[in-house]
Amino acid sequence: MTQMQQVLKAYFGYDSFRPLQEEIIHHLLGKKDTLVLMPTGGGKSICYQLPALMSEGTAVIISPLISLMKDQVESLRANGVAAGALNSMNSETENSALRQACLNGQLKLLYISPEKLLAEMDYLLRDMHISLFAIDEAHCISQWGHDFRPEYTQLGILHERFPNVPIIALTATADKITREDIVKQLHLQEPRIFISSFDRPNLSLTVNRSFQQKEKHKAIIDFIRKHPGESGIIYCMSRSKTEDVALMLQGQGIRTAVYHAGLSPSLREQAQDDFINDRVQVVCATIAFGMGIDKSNVRWVIHYNLPKSMENFYQEIGRAGRDGLPSDTLLFYSLSDLILLTKFATESGQRKINIEKLQRMQQYAEADICRRRILLNYFGENRTYDCGNCDVCKNPPERFDGTIIVQKALSAIARTEQQIGTRMLVDILRGNLNAELKEKGYHQLKTYGVGREIPARDWQDYLLQMLQLGYIEVAYNENNHLKIAPAGREVLFGREHASLVVIKREEKTEGKKRRRKKETPTLAQSLENANTESTDLFEALRALRKRLADEEVLPAYIVMSDKVLHLLAQQRPTTIEAFGNISGIGEYKKKKYGKDFIELIRRFV
Ligand code: ADP
Ligand code: ZN
Repeated sequence: MTQMQQVLKAYFGYDSFRPLQEEIIHHLLGKKDTLVLMPTGGGKSICYQLPALMSEGTAVIISPLISLMKDQVESLRANGVAAGALNSMNSETENSALRQACLNGQLKLLYISPEKLLAEMDYLLRDMHISLFAIDEAHCISQWGHDFRPEYTQLGILHERFPNVPIIALTATADKITREDIVKQLHLQEPRIFISSFDRPNLSLTVNRSFQQKEKHKAIIDFIRKHPGESGIIYCMSRSKTEDVALMLQGQGIRTAVYHAGLSPSLREQAQDDFINDRVQVVCATIAFGMGIDKSNVRWVIHYNLPKSMENFYQEIGRAGRDGLPSDTLLFYSLSDLILLTKFATESGQRKINIEKLQRMQQYAEADICRRRILLNYFGENRTYDCGNCDVCKNPPERFDGTIIVQKALSAIARTEQQIGTRMLVDILRGNLNAELKEKGYHQLKTYGVGREIPARDWQDYLLQMLQLGYIEVAYNENNHLKIAPAGREVLFGREHASLVVIKREEKTEGKKRRRKKETPTLAQSLENANTESTDLFEALRALRKRLADEEVLPAYIVMSDKVLHLLAQQRPTTIEAFGNISGIGEYKKKKYGKDFIELIRRFV
């Protein structure tokens, strides 16, 4: 074992490095500037924590949010590392004790906000021995990024003031403009840039085309029932939606909190804290929720509405499965979301870019090829094979000749002089009578009721497909009325055939899916090694972890990750030695928790 590997094992309990970590650490230990682009959960922290442990002095970590600092410091302390965070939330005594520890060289890592860093430039920082600067969430420096923080732009001064201290900047935002901006603004000296794959193979990808609220709610409840007791986030487009969904879940006895920008800071903090400490299982949130969340065992993410770009989508699903264990993501895609988002994009300042971004998101949601390929290709990673962990791979779409269906819809549009939106169209096709329809005389049309045999939700789906196939267009500037496009005319007049995708609903395909699953074990199954793991033991371990965490007032995942619990349930170590060999158990946790855990395991074997 190299010295680096020994330190990794002793403090973090891991046997080997992840791709690039070793090279990055080596580079930084050589006192050279470094830029690291790695996805969420890729293992960025170790890239500066390990060099901090291996160097003289204190590493200074700049982090934008107090909650992020807190999480990191707690994890480090739980591994027996001397770390602290200097911020406005601490009491004066805490902060002065921290200062003293820095000056005495007792602290290995000091977390600090950019504001505080600038304020301390001529005081604490000048007087202490700094081993390295790490700039976490470095994309905050760039106006092009999505989390721009003006304070970050002043960090360029670091190199001037501390020319001999190496800087490592880390981010999960990979685009080229942001990357160049980080290098330029931080004045990094001939930095080496490490870019790791942005694939997150442990995240399953599923898109559900649901159009009615009732249907969505049922799908969400079923989904959560398949994840008993497991933490998850539901992202919604509006504040009121987060509240609706939360109420619905609470009605089902699921502990749920709400998080959005309209709540007071204390309520938001409460929601976040309850989530981190497993007092609520679900958070219904707008996009405002997430950056401050380092909770490693978020097991699923649902998008109640379509996100407005792939960047947003990937960042949000990225909050699931940071610990590398299988985690599920589900995106609801509906025509009404698409119409609304298109309207927003059209009216926004950057019309062209926003429409383009939305269209890429739409292509992803409508894809009939492997979704992960689309995702990775979007982020510039050329992927040529299918992932096997998305709904398209697991359940490839089947097509049928839908010419007559398409003709019925187009003909109804034509007979109303292209003056109707989707809802009216479905009413006409289904032969529903409503006041407006009657007033306009649409019940006397030849097409009235010709699509009665197709349920409304399936009509919505076919219309979405027709939009995607270029048969119809939505006139966003004319009350979202539907217009027949040239390709549609070809089908309407019988010159072309239309091929549609068979609509599969959960209940219809359940039996089939189960059979498929048996043939090819999912990643979840192979990773969790379900057949060697006892669920009873796992649950008992989880309860023990919760008890220990509560005693220390720490989040459960800081005491032990879900991954470690699974490994314990599979390998069932009964000696302290064997316990210490489990990946993720360092020396400190071995001594601290070994006895409690092996006692419990012994009762099971
Ligand atoms: P990021 O900051 O890139 O989102 P983290 O640094 O939080 O990711 O790491 C994600 C998870 O992976 C953490 O639980 C961490 O302990 C774990 N991890 C990091 N490096 C390794 C490794 N070499 N072996 C096993 N697990 C690792
Ligand atoms: Zn796939």
